[in-house]
Amino acid sequence: MPYLDENTYSMLEFDREHLWHPYTSPTNPLPVYPVVSAKGTKLLLADGRELIDGMSSWWCAIHGYGHPDLVKAVMDQVQRMSHVMFGGITHPPAVELGRLLLTILPKGLTKIFFCDSGSVAVEVAMKIAIQYWHAAGKPEKKRFLTIRSGYHGDTFGAMSVCDPVTGMHRLFSGFIPKNLFADAPRCRFHDPWDEKDISSLEVLLDQHSNEIAAIIMEPVVQGAGGMRFYNPMYLRRAYELSRKWDVLFIADEIATGFGRTGRMFACEWAEVTPDVMCIGKALTGGMMTLAATITTDQVAYTIGNGDPGIFAHGPTFMANPLACAVSRASVQLLLSSPWKERVLRIEGILEEGLAPCKDLSIVEDVRVLGAIGVVETRETVDVAWLQRLFVERGVWIRPFWKLVYVMPPYIITEEELKRLCQAICEVMEIWNQKLT
Ligand code: PMP
Repeated sequence: MPYLDENTYSMLEFDREHLWHPYTSPTNPLPVYPVVSAKGTKLLLADGRELIDGMSSWWCAIHGYGHPDLVKAVMDQVQRMSHVMFGGITHPPAVELGRLLLTILPKGLTKIFFCDSGSVAVEVAMKIAIQYWHAAGKPEKKRFLTIRSGYHGDTFGAMSVCDPVTGMHRLFSGFIPKNLFADAPRCRFHDPWDEKDISSLEVLLDQHSNEIAAIIMEPVVQGAGGMRFYNPMYLRRAYELSRKWDVLFIADEIATGFGRTGRMFACEWAEVTPDVMCIGKALTGGMMTLAATITTDQVAYTIGNGDPGIFAHGPTFMANPLACAVSRASVQLLLSSPWKERVLRIEGILEEGLAPCKDLSIVEDVRVLGAIGVVETRETVDVAWLQRLFVERGVWIRPFWKLVYVMPPYIITEEELKRLCQAICEVMEIWNQKLT
């Protein structure tokens, strides 16, 4: 164990005693690594070690850390106005970000609700769908249809459409609404399309369309529910069925948005304009939290013209100026960069770099799409052990369940990306040897 100074030691002690961390025991937590700064593609640990970032801080930091354009946007805005309420007020950062988003969103999405986080964006989308049908005179339409292996966030509405098993619905049963789950798509991204894949979703629509407000799904990539890449035809067919059965279609682009799959939004793979779209994560380039739920005119006008004529949601930090200003800078930076070429280049290196893992018996599958690389293992990972092995190899990779995966910042160099892949191959090899 490298030397830790007294401050760091006491910080770790306080953290362990008093701070909750994501998805870990509050009393016997997984180890944490003290990070003191982050720059470009590197995280700096308190003991002086530098780690190459393979996670983009959970899909967010697409430009790397501390990009001067984003830092400048924060500094400039903070001098003017860090926050002001959005009730009865508007401000340039919100309007300018809104204008910019309308130039990149699928055509037809026009009405933007800025909110705090991805989970809140999903809550807002679900509330919009329920209010839509209320306003349209069909208040009985208030259930949601989704697909297994999905993930949409940790608040209760969002949880109710997460996969019921990995989302641990059993813990909260009686409290979370019972929604409808079709089988997860089986046709993988590059597989030929098989129409049978959609039948489970169609059966549920046939049986329940009169009580369904909306279909909600992550387009093309199911993230935290299993890192699965499915055939865009599934998305296309699900969207078409939503038209046929008169239910709204919500696309959760929180993880996939802003180029990660090789398209600006993953809906583009199927040429779908959803009725409602959620974005977040990379929206601010990972500088701070901001999300948005965007609808078509038709959805907004139905709510506006119906009873009670208002949309019943309004977070304190709605359209926070600081977050909007940095988001605008992040989207501009993305648009002015060769992001498509970068993502394609990452895809190629990941494919080649992770391929050796396919030969290991511990490995179930290796898959790559855009700037996302996944090694699925046959057994659940020992997070603390694997993470230590990764840190020892100078890389930051946080596995979960049976998934060792990377989604690096788009600015990662070829050499850094090769080191990430090499570290994964080495660690998988060590795990494999332990078993044989
Ligand atoms: N939807 C998807 C597809 C996500 O990946 C996530 C976050 N992992 C969320 C919603 C929730 O976002 P947040 O963590 O910002 O609440």
